[in-house]
Amino acid sequence: MVTVRVPAKVNVQLGVGGVRPDGYHDLANVFFAVALGDQVTATPGEGVTLSCDGPDADAVPLDDSNLAARAARLLAAHHGLADPGVHLHIDKAIPVAGGMAGGSADGAAALLACDALWGLDTPQPVLLELAAELGSDVPFALLGGVALGRGRGELLEPLPAAGTFHWVFAVADGGLSTPAVFRECDRLREESGLGSSLADVPTPDADPALLAALAEGDPVALAAALANDLQAAAVSLRPALADTLRAGTEAGALAALVSGSGPTCAFLAKDADAAAHVAAALRASGTCRTAHATHGPVPGARVVSAPRP
Ligand code: ATP
Repeated sequence: MVTVRVPAKVNVQLGVGGVRPDGYHDLANVFFAVALGDQVTATPGEGVTLSCDGPDADAVPLDDSNLAARAARLLAAHHGLADPGVHLHIDKAIPVAGGMAGGSADGAAALLACDALWGLDTPQPVLLELAAELGSDVPFALLGGVALGRGRGELLEPLPAAGTFHWVFAVADGGLSTPAVFRECDRLREESGLGSSLADVPTPDADPALLAALAEGDPVALAAALANDLQAAAVSLRPALADTLRAGTEAGALAALVSGSGPTCAFLAKDADAAAHVAAALRASGTCRTAHATHGPVPGARVVSAPRP
């Protein structure tokens, strides 16, 4: 039996460029890994089977569309294993369809867990390539820490970060579809007269003030630099998110933003006590299903228990 712990992410900067000819958007995506995470346990089995526990377990597909199952099959195919056998149990704490890359996290965790269970010893660069094939957020879940993602988000450059930042995540009822939020972002750009194509929207780049705040471990400076180009689109599709963002700010958060494509909202706090206070105020506000105080950056997917040699 192999258990892997894997972090969720928040995008401290999510710059969205114009629509490319292939339909994707160029991103300047600063990923930040937080301690709120899932655990994936791999045990020997027949074929690839799945189970899931946790408050959102009912929303997790247990068929071959699950990224954990796809990861197991991809790793097996890469090594020419004709008949891979594994049961993957997902202990799910990351909100589903919440903009925190929970499915991608499970894909990364399953790659590592199956690699260890099957004794494959796949080199890290190969695992990162397989992760990129699974989805643009999967490589970061392997890497963790803080990283700049370019292109569709899959070209990763680790970034320096000092100290620990304290976060609160307010979980909404129900998810938002990431493609729908990108479409709404394009629609809002068209509606405002700016246009949504590559010719209309400048290619985004990482904000130097944000990178300096991370490198210096300065939560006040990071709060001032947080930016998410998808936020207006997520709030447009789910107007109640404005109430959640306001409730956290009124409770003393340094800053509030929608996490990725939402609907989870992220709040940066000045320290652990402030984060616990903001989380309690959000839970009492009635503007979200629940709220979790957590911290980061933390490492990417890691084996926490493995079979004895
Ligand atoms: P991102 O931030 O990468 O856009 P997200 O956090 O908004 O993603 P996920 O939790 O990854 O969203 O789930 C998006 C959809 O992916 C779900 O609605 C579900 O149908 C599917 N899915 C596939 N595998 C998983 C998994 N292991 N856990 C959760 N959802 C999964």
